[in-house]
Amino acid sequence: MATGNINVSVENIFPLIKKFLYSDHEIFLRELISNATDATLKLKHLTAIGEAKVEYGNPVIEVKIDKEKKQLIISDQGVGMTKEEVEKYINQVAFSGAEEFLEKYKDSAKDSGIIGHFGLGFYSAFMVANKVEIVTKSYKDEPAAHWVCEGTTEFTLEETEKKEHGTDIILHINEDDKEFLEKNRIEELLVKYNKFMPIPIKFGTREE
Ligand code: ADP
Ligand code: MG
Repeated sequence: MATGNINVSVENIFPLIKKFLYSDHEIFLRELISNATDATLKLKHLTAIGEAKVEYGNPVIEVKIDKEKKQLIISDQGVGMTKEEVEKYINQVAFSGAEEFLEKYKDSAKDSGIIGHFGLGFYSAFMVANKVEIVTKSYKDEPAAHWVCEGTTEFTLEETEKKEHGTDIILHINEDDKEFLEKNRIEELLVKYNKFMPIPIKFGTREE
């Protein structure tokens, strides 16, 4: 298992994300679905040009609520990431725009459209979750990876088992954000996003 520190120039970005974007927590879902969509479309392209030797099929993005475990899970069947890619794209690159972001928008952070722009997309998950896990397997023939972060700059990254390529993002939802464990609330958001998303979104719940 690897443990380490996320390369962040602003100490403890997580409380800041929460504070500045307090009024617009719901955008995390749009960010995660947009990442899932990107990952799926990347695989579509790579299979079309013969670069990825897997079957593209009819991929969907799946959103699940596990009320008992207080989890919201967003799964895709896209390109996935190798352990090295998680290291690079999640731990190292993600904060590259953070400083600039904070400097520029500290007074107007309610304008949430800017988040994706500065690469804080994935980390917006910490607006609603105190712990986030990534379970991901690349379309390349490499072991799956499991990343866990509890809303500090520390993380763990280790190999895990996952059969199919793609990514599961597991959010352990905060007490204050319990609304995102409600079927109706998620449905309402998904209806909004589904309209302009190229990959179908499947929504189920384990509570029933
Ligand atoms: P952006 O989408 O603007 O690049 P994000 O913070 O949303 O920034 O995501 C950072 C990077 O993490 C992405 O560029 C991608 O490489 C990787 N990533 C995030 N989510 C996924 C996913 N579901 N599948 C594969 N890669 C992902
Ligand atoms: Mg993104």
